[in-house]
Amino acid sequence: MITGKTKTIGILGYPVGHSLSPLMHNAAFAALELDYIYVPLPVAPDHLGQAMAGLKAIGFVGANVTIPHKVTIIPYLDELDRSAELVGAVNTIVIRKGRFIGYNTDSLGFIQSLTAKNITIKGKKVVIMGAGGAARAVVCGLLEQGIDQITIGTRSNLKAQEFVKLFPAGTNIQGCDWQEELFTEAISQCDILINCTPIGMSSSQEVELPINWQKVQSNAIICDLIYNPPLTNFLTEAKNRGHIVINGAGMLVEQGALAFELWTGQIAPRSIMLKNLENFVANCMELDKDNIIVSRKTLK
Ligand code: NAP
Repeated sequence: MITGKTKTIGILGYPVGHSLSPLMHNAAFAALELDYIYVPLPVAPDHLGQAMAGLKAIGFVGANVTIPHKVTIIPYLDELDRSAELVGAVNTIVIRKGRFIGYNTDSLGFIQSLTAKNITIKGKKVVIMGAGGAARAVVCGLLEQGIDQITIGTRSNLKAQEFVKLFPAGTNIQGCDWQEELFTEAISQCDILINCTPIGMSSSQEVELPINWQKVQSNAIICDLIYNPPLTNFLTEAKNRGHIVINGAGMLVEQGALAFELWTGQIAPRSIMLKNLENFVANCMELDKDNIIVSRKTLK
């Protein structure tokens, strides 16, 4: 029941109708009988400052931040945790005594999604496709774990080189166009191959990731940050070839669980969060023309 004492948390994004965070967090609050509610907050870029003042005025206790505000939110915060400083982006805000404190839980969330599956990261060679915000969070998480053999492949060598420059000089990260021989060489040696692009989000999408599967080691672990569909073409191919495959659901749950713990001080019920997410994706997730989640039945 929502009362005058219910604590409110929201997710700032634009659009935000596709986000599964409200589903996941409200299920977690209900499971632990915590008097919190989590709401989607669609905020256009021009209104971000007003929205932030509004959160304070209305007495929100926290927020998540998603595209396109993860970087532009920083000037509105009073303090940045080291996690957000490292990634250069914020996905979680704690509002304490009228102060905004920014965190990034994507980075550790990705790492925990692997360790939760008993995957050892130490000493591994990693290849990442994509050089956007998610790739940056993943690289920061890997560097924190002491992984320093990372290759970034993108559709543009220039973007790959710019991305590499975001990390401290001396870090062993190389960037290349994924059509180059250097990329094929890197995937032939890698232990973990990760898709950090949106390629595969739509089953009708014609673009495919440029993987020469013959070159990939048979014991390489194949990850995709996408969780809908649960098995992208990339993961399906990898699974058919006998690889261990990991989709983005674990990362979504872990980053959410870490945020939940910052807001509530309670251990997040991860299995409940994952179950709600997987059920929803399996049974009723479709996006309408405005990118808002609707049930499949509504669409038909
Ligand atoms: P982003 O900042 O927009 O970066 C996307 C990257 O993919 C860029 O390097 C972009 O290259 C590349 N790319 C996009 N479309 C491409 C195409 N058609 N062909 C080749 N390269 C393409 O996005 P992001 O925030 O990093 O998110 C990437 C993916 O991760 C999304 O699918 C997102 O849903 C997912 N994600 C999942 C989680 C989770 O918790 N599971 C968390 C964060 C993100 P250009 O720069 O050349 O455009």
